[in-house]
Amino acid sequence: MSGIFDTKIEFLKGVGPQRAALINKELNIFTYGELIQHYPFRYEDRTKFFKIRELSAELENVQVIAKIKQVEIIGLGGKRRLVAHVADETGEMEMTWFKGIQWVQPKLPAGATFIFYGKPALYGRKWSIAHPEMEPLSAANETRNNFQPVYSTTEKLKAKFLDSRGISKIMEQLVQVCLPQIQETLPSEILQQYQLIGKQESIRQIHFPSQPDLLQRARKRLKFEEFFFLQLRLLMMKLTRIEKFRGQPLSNTELLTEFYKNHIPFELTNAQKRVIREAFTDMKSGRQMNRLIQGDVGSGKTMVAFICMLIAISSGAQACLMAPTEILANQHYEGLRQYANMMGLEIALLTGSVKKARRKVIHESLESGELKILIGTHALLEDVVQFKNLGIAIVDEQHRFGVAQRAKLWAKNEEFVPHVLVMTATPIPRTLAMTLYGDLDVSVIDELPAGRKPIQTVHRYDKDRLKVFGFINQEVQKGRQVYIVYPLIEESEKMDLKNLMDGFESISRAFPQYPISIVYGTMKSDAKDFEMQRFVKGETKIMVATTVIEVGVNVPNASVMIIENAERFGLSQLHQLRGRVGRGAEQSYCVLMSKVELSKDSRIRLDTMVRTNDGFEIADVDLRLRGPGDLMGTQQSGITDLLIADLSRDAQILTLARDAAQQVLANDPELNQPQNAPILRQVRQQKKHAVNWSRIS
Ligand code: ADP
Ligand code: MG
Repeated sequence: MSGIFDTKIEFLKGVGPQRAALINKELNIFTYGELIQHYPFRYEDRTKFFKIRELSAELENVQVIAKIKQVEIIGLGGKRRLVAHVADETGEMEMTWFKGIQWVQPKLPAGATFIFYGKPALYGRKWSIAHPEMEPLSAANETRNNFQPVYSTTEKLKAKFLDSRGISKIMEQLVQVCLPQIQETLPSEILQQYQLIGKQESIRQIHFPSQPDLLQRARKRLKFEEFFFLQLRLLMMKLTRIEKFRGQPLSNTELLTEFYKNHIPFELTNAQKRVIREAFTDMKSGRQMNRLIQGDVGSGKTMVAFICMLIAISSGAQACLMAPTEILANQHYEGLRQYANMMGLEIALLTGSVKKARRKVIHESLESGELKILIGTHALLEDVVQFKNLGIAIVDEQHRFGVAQRAKLWAKNEEFVPHVLVMTATPIPRTLAMTLYGDLDVSVIDELPAGRKPIQTVHRYDKDRLKVFGFINQEVQKGRQVYIVYPLIEESEKMDLKNLMDGFESISRAFPQYPISIVYGTMKSDAKDFEMQRFVKGETKIMVATTVIEVGVNVPNASVMIIENAERFGLSQLHQLRGRVGRGAEQSYCVLMSKVELSKDSRIRLDTMVRTNDGFEIADVDLRLRGPGDLMGTQQSGITDLLIADLSRDAQILTLARDAAQQVLANDPELNQPQNAPILRQVRQQKKHAVNWSRIS
């Protein structure tokens, strides 16, 4: 079904080639189909009319009914402006145009009455509206009782009369021409079950709402549809993967039993047990596991990873774990080596700084199968790294790896694609996880090991610094260690580095009796490691650092996290940083330092941190503040290019839509049944246009 929706917009009445070219350029809209999906971004109640005497500077856009008294052009050249002097029974004001004067002037005959719309401003003693929207007053529009759609537009479009009202005008044409051709995309059972109105009616209402409640239902229907097809697409990708890739059946638990019996240093939490069961079910199934483990900082993901490794190794396969930084890879290696040694398993570390000779040994023992566990950074992905039989690949802190890198891991085993376990401490709101990781199964470790005391968080201002120093002293006296973190970003690197150094000096002066470490990104890596190690071993009491310590570092004796210029950090970063403490049995503290004047968003961020330790709640606030694209970084934001639905606000609709998509695919995975014909047609249509989709896979 090509036809009407592929028609170029220049053929629409009232558009023409010139305006079409401008719309192409300004809004990236080319066809009828694209234009009809240019939904209003909000609606205005235009039932209210203001008298000129009622105007005030606090008002946003207003409607005024006024009569043209006189029109004149004032000024010369670039400063020329068109001024219409207008009046109602309460006073006079001016309407002003700086652009498109020759267009507007003929439309303003003296004596005619218009509805003008725009933001009033006071010039001298007279009210004025620059570039108002306007339409001649008629009996119909004075008494209309509806919401006016507000469309996004640009200055250039406005100059060609494509302001919101202008767009609405051409939309009237478009909807009239297109509406009869719009086909239903959802089966009637789904419409009924979820009480959704039809597609045609939704499109009509979204552009020309007749009643508030119908507009609501139209919006809900279109959001549902958008989520439905997004989820359907992701679930279909998952089905294809399951069909296409067999997984190595790994069902032997010999090593696991021995580890449980003789070595495990603590009782697993119920959440850890559940997640291990979920992973084990995948691993022995003959299907390839592709699972995301979400667990807040300190929830014990490493142990879950190790146990999954044991399952693989019991069945004669190998395991690898990839971390985003050398520091983290090191730490994982140090931690897991203890357990591997207990079990008599070969383990090795492979990072960029491993020497050539050592690398060779690692490569060889990997290929012979002698080496069972390989920990490392991106270095693992290099083609020279070949396993005898890689059974499971574990990726820590997934958000730092791209999809392409994940795919490279898959290529490490020719017979079977390795089982993949992705671990992330970044709590992703469920709605976003469903979308970003829609093709992964998700397990959540939603419980911390027993005996952890919740971290106490406070917000202090720079003027309280002496008290904060007193507190640091008191904690170090008790034998604890303290982190002090400074922001450092590229754009203001010099300044930030200076702040860090100044901070380090003032702390050294305040605590001459304590050994202090300093670590930042541009330090030589052995110097960095040396300082880290001193702190890990407890030789230094205070660690002054930039966010290099953000991810994963584990020093249970550190119980205080001071974050300087906390207003400059994002929420998820603050949460990650705070997660560096609270890892031992002691009461831990987080102190957020900031200046006194804060932006609204900064205040919300700091208040949120003080209020809760719950990573998911924090992630939700973050999503609301920043929007989903930003949250995931630009490279993944393509997924969240939604026209009308909003991942942070429409979570409920998303859940419903996902359920519906699941239900449809469970009964009819190929979408062959007649009742699902509308869905199939839409899926094919979207594939053809591949607007949003091309960036996903
Ligand atoms: P994360 O999920 O942040 O990676 P880790 O795996 O580093 O957390 O675990 C944090 C700390 O908790 C480690 O010191 C680890 O040994 C400990 N730990 C993990 N699981 C348990 C448990 N069930 N009981 C007690 N301590 C645990
Ligand atoms: Mg970890």
